[in-house]
Amino acid sequence: MQIKIQSIQLRLKHPFTTARNTSTEKTNIIVRLEHDQIVGWGEAAAHIRFKQTPETVWTALEDMVPKLPVAPTAYEHMLAEMQSWVPGQSAAKAALDMAVMDWVGKQLGIPLFRLWGLDPARMPVAGTTIGIDRPDVMAAKVAEAGDVRFLKVKLGTDHDRELIEAIRKVSDLPIRVDANEGWRDVEKAAREIEWLADRGVELIEQPLPADRFDDAIWLRDRSPLPLYADEAFESAADIPRLAEAYDGINIKLMKCGGTAAARTAIHTARALGMKIMLGCMIESALAISASLQLAPLVDAVDLDGDRLIADHPFIGHKLINGCVRLNDQPGLGVTPAAEVFDLFGA
Ligand code: MG
Repeated sequence: MQIKIQSIQLRLKHPFTTARNTSTEKTNIIVRLEHDQIVGWGEAAAHIRFKQTPETVWTALEDMVPKLPVAPTAYEHMLAEMQSWVPGQSAAKAALDMAVMDWVGKQLGIPLFRLWGLDPARMPVAGTTIGIDRPDVMAAKVAEAGDVRFLKVKLGTDHDRELIEAIRKVSDLPIRVDANEGWRDVEKAAREIEWLADRGVELIEQPLPADRFDDAIWLRDRSPLPLYADEAFESAADIPRLAEAYDGINIKLMKCGGTAAARTAIHTARALGMKIMLGCMIESALAISASLQLAPLVDAVDLDGDRLIADHPFIGHKLINGCVRLNDQPGLGVTPAAEVFDLFGA
């Protein structure tokens, strides 16, 4: 098994602002795995909130690659053991997991959703994310949203109501709010959620800072809308505790360390009666496609990271009538563009 890694620059269509920061471009790491003349691809999107950067991803991959077995066939064991090879560094692990699973699917000649026995007709509806901006700019971005069934709106400012009112003037699509830990006053958060519930908002993601656990319990008891943990959730081991304070979790491959770890998290959350959303970082269609393969298992998807970027190093699944349709290509279902072949000199 031969592994090569390269970094790739992704330019965003618009500066993207959350309650935490603003980004205009993103550096991700691409993994190319080759064995028996079959190539599998993986992608790591590091996020500083989880103490990961492109540099830490690169170092972690260099540490992990020599530990890989000769062939990726006994992948279930390999992917479980990989989680303990280096501490943290879940994005690097996600990239290796994806490359291995893309290879496995291609070797078997089937898409991963078929390997996992999932019905592609059971895909949750697709939405688009509206980052924080001036109210008129946020309303203009809604007009660009295209064929989607909901808007995921970033909040966590001191003028959130003004932002929602601007969007409501141009769209009556359901809204899902992500405060990205931006609300600090729990009583004010409760009032904001009451107000939002009357304006077609369906759910609230990470209203309070992740470490405010007792306040999250207090808020959930009063909230008319389901509350989802995002920053508070990393991997399956967090779920039993989170079930006391949240109705659902937002699973991202980059937080939990790949598709195998995500499947463990999905089954753990289901056992505890929680709702599940699949989310993403700013990622190309490569990593997005890995999450989409799992999407028939969950209640909601927020997998538009590839639609926020101007570059398309990988071509993945198509959005049709407000829902992503999984294609029937083996593995992750992605095709690399010419620039990826140039990058790897192949
Ligand atoms: Mg979030």
